[in-house]
Amino acid sequence: MKIHEYQGKELFAKYGVPIPKGHPAFSVDEAEAAAKKLIEETKSNVVVVKAQIHAGGRGKGGGVKVAKGGAAEAKELAQKILGMQLVTHQTGPEGQKVRRLYIEQGLPIKRELYLGAVIDRDRRRIAFMASTEGGVEIEKVAAETPEKILTVHVDPVVGIAGYQARELAFGLGVDPKRFTKLVGALYELFVKEDCSLCEINPLVELDDGSIVALDAKLNFDDNADFRHPDWKKLFDKDEEDPVEMEAKEVGLNYVSLDGNVGCLVNGAGLAMATMDIIKHAGEKYGVAPANFLDVGGGANQEQVTKAFKMILRSPKVKAIFVNIFGGIMKCDVIASGVVAAAKELGLKVPLVVRLEGTNVELGRKILNESGLAIQAATTMADGAQKIVAAIGGAK
Ligand code: ADP
Ligand code: MG
Repeated sequence: MKIHEYQGKELFAKYGVPIPKGHPAFSVDEAEAAAKKLIEETKSNVVVVKAQIHAGGRGKGGGVKVAKGGAAEAKELAQKILGMQLVTHQTGPEGQKVRRLYIEQGLPIKRELYLGAVIDRDRRRIAFMASTEGGVEIEKVAAETPEKILTVHVDPVVGIAGYQARELAFGLGVDPKRFTKLVGALYELFVKEDCSLCEINPLVELDDGSIVALDAKLNFDDNADFRHPDWKKLFDKDEEDPVEMEAKEVGLNYVSLDGNVGCLVNGAGLAMATMDIIKHAGEKYGVAPANFLDVGGGANQEQVTKAFKMILRSPKVKAIFVNIFGGIMKCDVIASGVVAAAKELGLKVPLVVRLEGTNVELGRKILNESGLAIQAATTMADGAQKIVAAIGGAK
């Protein structure tokens, strides 16, 4: 789960990571009031109006603007940014509508640095990464000049050690005392709040040597949501893919992708393999999976019907591949779900089905007698080829 910058900064403040003063705003009037309040609090006319969307690169896309002319200018900027369709390298070409703003004190930046924490699955530890190349896309730094990123891995029993914090501080050229405190607070937050990612880009150094988190990107590990009833309040449904949300409600694992083949599969491993084989067979023909969908082992007919409807409703889907290995999940349940959904919504795209396992004969019978135009596939590879052919690729 992702949260907004202003929500991340509230958590920063709670754990003792220094942040600039700021107030969220949900309307232009609120933005103006927030700017007035800030100017009073800071005795400075410089405020920054920041679009709140769950994507980075807002600055480059025109979603972060500095107002030096007081609350009136901040209001004008808020008018421009609120409601805009903000396009960044992380939103895709359609962009994301700005519904919330954060009005923040403008700080005189001396240097922009990078500090991030992630879970390194290979090492089974939290890794802290720091770089003097902050502010810009850190992915670019990692790809082009990886030597500019310092990494330390934290022992979960000991926590972040003083020498590790100092190693990063010396690498960044910042005050080790201040940095040790900040990174310790960030580590505590990361663990207690069950983060999977926590990124400060930029972490800025000011003229007096103090260091402040100017941006906050936090992702939580969804598996820990039972420990955090407060996450419900932080959740912003406007930022989520509506189909993914619908899937979650009925207990399906669904992830939207960019391709054109709807996939209905049982089991995460088989779902991944299905996506791979479609991608492999369709590479030269512009054929790729439109979604990851694992209906799981214990899905009932209603869930299968819902899953199939979600796929059918997507306009980008040009063909559907149902790939089921009936183990706990029975082939006839899948077949009945597919038929029910297709009859209700109408099947306008080619459908390729590969069934194997428990009750396979009954499943095939249900499909054969349904009157739907279904192409049966014998193996996964055969299915992938039929899908590619159906979209107009290789025969
Ligand atoms: P994003 O990463 O989405 O572009 P940031 O919050 O990192 O958004 O802001 C982009 C840039 O805007 C920062 O790198 C910094 O140069 C500037 N900026 C952001 N907040 C402030 C602030 N409070 N004071 C001064 N400059 C800021
Ligand atoms: Mg940033």
